[in-house]
Amino acid sequence: MAGLTQLFDASQYLNGMLEFIKNSPTPYHASHSLCTILDEQGFRRLSETEEWYLQEGDQCYVTRNGTSVIAFRFGSNSKVTHGMRLVGAHLDSPCLKLNPKANFEKHGYRVANVEVYGSSLLRTWFDRDLAIAGRIFVRDADGSIRKVMIDSKVPVAVIPSIAIHLERQANKLQEIDSQVHINPVLLNHWGDGETLPQQLLDFAGDQAEAEDILGFDLRFYDSNPPNLIESEIEISNSDNLTSDCSNQYISSARIDNLLSCYTGVQALTNASGDNFCMLVASDHEEVGSVSDSGAQGRFLLQVLERIGALDPRVIRNSAMLSADGAHGLHPNYPEKHDEQHRPVLNRGPVIKVNSNQRYATSDETEAVIRGLCTDLKIPVQVFVSRNDQPCGTTIGPLVASEIGIKTVDVGVAQFAMHSIRELAGCDDAVYFLKLLKAFYDSDSVSLVD
Ligand SMILES: [Zn+2]
Repeated sequence: MAGLTQLFDASQYLNGMLEFIKNSPTPYHASHSLCTILDEQGFRRLSETEEWYLQEGDQCYVTRNGTSVIAFRFGSNSKVTHGMRLVGAHLDSPCLKLNPKANFEKHGYRVANVEVYGSSLLRTWFDRDLAIAGRIFVRDADGSIRKVMIDSKVPVAVIPSIAIHLERQANKLQEIDSQVHINPVLLNHWGDGETLPQQLLDFAGDQAEAEDILGFDLRFYDSNPPNLIESEIEISNSDNLTSDCSNQYISSARIDNLLSCYTGVQALTNASGDNFCMLVASDHEEVGSVSDSGAQGRFLLQVLERIGALDPRVIRNSAMLSADGAHGLHPNYPEKHDEQHRPVLNRGPVIKVNSNQRYATSDETEAVIRGLCTDLKIPVQVFVSRNDQPCGTTIGPLVASEIGIKTVDVGVAQFAMHSIRELAGCDDAVYFLKLLKAFYDSDSVSLVD
C-alpha cells in the first residue's frame, strides 16, 4: 500500500491523475481504471449476485452495470460508535453518444448519428480530433453473447465549424442546432454500412464480425490527451499555503468529475484504517442520476444493507463528502458569480452551499470541513450561486435524502465545466487529496444530534 510519502508526492499524484483520465474516455473505462487501482491496492472484488463473506479488516469493491463502483474498507473503529466516512463522486461526463442507427450518408459524406448525453457545451466539440470508445456486445458462433471494450485512441471523426466567410455572423449569432449541426463527419475508418464498421472490433483486436454486434454504447471524445500547464503568472497567496506545484494547471477533458474519482480512490487506499471508509463512484449523474446504477437508484442502499450499515446509529454517526467540480470565477464573466462567493483556481477546495438543497451542505457539515482545512493548514473557499442564476446540483442531496447521511458538497474550482476541455488548478487537486484523506480519518463528524 502506498505510504504517506508516495501519497503526497504531488507530481506522482498529478501524473497518475492525467494517466487515469486519459485511460477513462467513457464511464466503462473509468470504472475499469478505478477497479485496476483497487485491485493493485489489495481490494477484493465482490459480485452483487453472490454471497458476501465479510470479515474484520476487509477491503472490497463491487460494481454495477460495468460503471458504478462502490469500494469500502473496514476500520478498527466500530461503525455504530464512529459511523462511516463516505466520499461520493460521479464517473460520467457530458458527451456525444452514438445512436443505434449509427451513421448515414449526408451530401456525399458519412456522418455519425449522435445523441447529446448530458448538458454538453456543444460549441467546444467543433474542430476536435474525435476518437470513439465504449463497449460492444457481440454474439459468437456458439450463440453466446459477450462484451468487448473499445477505444479507437486514434481520431475517427471531426465536427468542422462553418467557415466565417460562409457565416459572417458566426461570432455574434450562431446557434447550434443539436439535431443537424453536430453530426461528426466520419473519416477513413468507417466504410459505407449503416451500422458499425468492422474497424471498431479491429481496434479491440477482436475476432468477431461486425454483423454479430447486438448492442453498443459508444461515445466520441477528444483524442487530445490531458496536459499539465505550468504558468509564468505569479498569483499572490496571502496565506502562504501553496503546495509544491503553485501556478500549475490541469488541462483535460472530464475533469468534472474524474478528478474527484481519482482523488477519492487515492484517499481511500491511503486512509489510516481506523474508520469504516467508502468510495461511491456513480454513473448517470449528468443525466439526473435516475437509473439502476445512478445515485438515485438503490445500489448504495443495497450495499449498505448487505454490510449491515443501515442501523440508524451508524447512519447518524456517518457523513458523506460529495466530491464534484465547482465553478471558478471566470475573469471575463465576473458578473456570473455572487460578489462575495468567487472561488479562484489554486486557492483551495470549494465548499458549495445552497439553501434550496441543490447542494447538501449544512452549517454543521461546513463546520466539519472548515475544521479539517484549518488543521491541515490548507485554504478553503465557498461558493453560493447568485439568486438570479439557476444552481447546479450533485449526487450529494440524493444520498442525503435517500439514506439519511449528513452530507457536504465540496469540490475543486475549475473553468469551462462541461466543455470538451476543462481547466483546474494543481494546488487545488493536492489540497483536495489531503482533505479527502483527512475526512476519511476524521474522528467525529457528528456535531449535533
Ligand atoms: Zn460534475
